[in-house]
Amino acid sequence: MSATAPRLRRRVAARVEGTVQGVGFRPHVYRLARELGLSGYVRNDERGVALEVEGEAAAVNSFLARLASEAPPLARVERVLTDERELAGKEGFSIVESERAGEPRAPVTPDTATCDDCLAELFDPGDRRHRYPFVNCTNCGPRFTIVRGVPYDRPLTTMAGFEMCDRCRAEYEDPLDRRFHAQPNACPVCGPSAWVADASAAVVSRDLTAAADALRGGAILAIKGLGGFHLSCVASSEDAVAQLRARKHREDKPFALMAPDVEAARSLVDLDDAAEVLLVSRERPIVLAPRRLDAPVAAEVAPGLPELGVMLPYSPLHHLLLADTGESLVMTSGNVSDEPIAFTDEDALQRLAGIAELFLLHDRPIETRTDDSVVRPATVLRRSRGYVPAPIELPVPAKRHVLACGAELKNTFTLAKGKSAWVSHHIGDLENYETLRSFRDGIAHFQRLFAVEPEVVAHDLHPDYLSTKYALERDGVELVGVQHHHAHLAACLAEHGVTDRAVGAIFDGTGYGTDGTVWGGEILVGDLGRFERAGHLFPVRMPGGAAAVREPWRMACAWLAEATGEGEPELPPILAGMVEPESWCIVARMAEAGVSAPMTSSMGRLFDAVAALCGLRTHVNYEGQAAIGLEAVAATRAGESSAYPMPGLDARETIRAIDADVRAGVPIGVIAARFHNGVAAATASACESAARSHGLDSVVLSGGVFQNRLLLERISALLADAGLRVLVPERLPANDGGISYGQTAVAVGRSAEPGRVTG
Ligand code: ZN
Ligand code: ZN
Ligand code: FE
Repeated sequence: MSATAPRLRRRVAARVEGTVQGVGFRPHVYRLARELGLSGYVRNDERGVALEVEGEAAAVNSFLARLASEAPPLARVERVLTDERELAGKEGFSIVESERAGEPRAPVTPDTATCDDCLAELFDPGDRRHRYPFVNCTNCGPRFTIVRGVPYDRPLTTMAGFEMCDRCRAEYEDPLDRRFHAQPNACPVCGPSAWVADASAAVVSRDLTAAADALRGGAILAIKGLGGFHLSCVASSEDAVAQLRARKHREDKPFALMAPDVEAARSLVDLDDAAEVLLVSRERPIVLAPRRLDAPVAAEVAPGLPELGVMLPYSPLHHLLLADTGESLVMTSGNVSDEPIAFTDEDALQRLAGIAELFLLHDRPIETRTDDSVVRPATVLRRSRGYVPAPIELPVPAKRHVLACGAELKNTFTLAKGKSAWVSHHIGDLENYETLRSFRDGIAHFQRLFAVEPEVVAHDLHPDYLSTKYALERDGVELVGVQHHHAHLAACLAEHGVTDRAVGAIFDGTGYGTDGTVWGGEILVGDLGRFERAGHLFPVRMPGGAAAVREPWRMACAWLAEATGEGEPELPPILAGMVEPESWCIVARMAEAGVSAPMTSSMGRLFDAVAALCGLRTHVNYEGQAAIGLEAVAATRAGESSAYPMPGLDARETIRAIDADVRAGVPIGVIAARFHNGVAAATASACESAARSHGLDSVVLSGGVFQNRLLLERISALLADAGLRVLVPERLPANDGGISYGQTAVAVGRSAEPGRVTG
């Protein structure tokens, strides 16, 4: 080959799909093309990024190889389609303005923790953004919480009121700058500012070190963050934490902590590799991890719990505050009791004035209230800030647009079209006007963001859920009622891309059954569209309905009545002094007569009953508290191998054995461990026989009870030994936060069935 022969040249058109808009993908393409000496163009369109490159074949090949592998941190490339083109022979490479053809695609991404580059600027005295609490770039910063509409451009964010100065504008318009098209780009000259105010909103200081000084002096602060307000105090201060608890009317629900850095987090909790990966991830969730015995935190932070919830700073404001304070802080939601967290200044000043002495405020509005996410390695307990609104794929495409309204507690909703399902941020418990309003507003907001016009609306079967009532009020849609535990099963199947039938052990507190009773200890067999009930926990009365959830001793009474066959079982000696004998009699009679005492097969209520029988808890301040206590004491006897009998998921014999052991003075840890072992063995054997009789090999374990790791691990191990494949929720919570995605999967699964009957 002669040295003067023309080198081989190519022109290739490529389409990149995935999360590639608003994440710096076009500048990445631009830089790469320039580096490799290629000509052509790149632009956004309604499906992602489209580009053409021309140059030496080797350079084009290298370009295509590095296109996805060197993509910017927030981009998620799902696929790259390429096509050979005729050479055009033109010079130069350009970024072409977006074509706004077709329907708006949603380039709205989750809020992302401050990146290392921005952090370096934040603490560099020579940088123009030194100590600027709103520093951000294309690779980090607020997104979902500030978006008002689409397309995702500055005028449709809460940054609309801040006009960029010349220097910020120049960064924003320079394809080679880290802030090219960073919509929230700002600086101290042109952007939002933060200040410290008193409870009457009067400015106390514009110097943020005043906030750290106040915290170190023992004050409680209300802090406006990314998705809402936090209440904060120094975590090691017994006085401040006790004050916060008293003023917030929060008896013993744990407070989350924010540690200045990983090192400080390690002094609070034992971090394994998986937990540390989550802690430093750009989603920056609250990570639950085993509390260190010598953790420098006040006793009142998480009374009686073996774990602490810890997160790292995720906004520049947090970084400044934590660096200035130099200590771990309590960062609990800015609310009183169980209300939704405050996210507007007026609301916060009104509701939190009696709790916080000072307010750390800023003038960048929060559009959508978004709580911190909560995770434990391999599971998510609350999927919200940092994760939402990234879509979760459906295994079967939705032929029509779907809205699923979710459950009553820990509500989320889901919108879906095609293979994408957008699960909402954590809305909360739909039991007051404020939360219902966030639910309605949130649905409208998501419909606009993702251009979804629901034709199918899925809902729970419970007629009294506000989410069900909302669904029934929507005009001109096809309604799909989904049984609660089937939704739990379908959510897990869909998340794992499974469309085949499987067995599901679905254990939770409450869910409306197809027979009108309260279910919650269910062995189901089903797929995305249909299910049958293959087994369930022996049902008992729930004396007082909701009162039985708050007062586990009522469940102990109901279970003892069934187990002993006595209408009025004797008050166990261990409960003497904890439960009034008269109340015990009344509740026993309610159970016997079946008055105000619905039937339930709830596994959550069985755990409550056992916790009460052990004398651990007769009353709870939040759902699951009794079970958490029972798991904690069982974990202290993890080596215990014996198990109480629970033939066919009938726990009457179990209850008799527990009652006898408690009376005999057997340590509570041993009893709790034997109980866990008994439930595990009974569940595994029920799943095995359902799998065998239906010719299936996969078992789903889901429902809020499976947040109990001891139980989950024991059952998983037994099922694996039996050669069964175990599926558990990973990207969505096992609790009711995952219900709306499951309802979506059921609606889509049913419409995919041949010969579908609607209604
Ligand atoms: Zn950044
Ligand atoms: Zn500026
Ligand atoms: Fe549930």
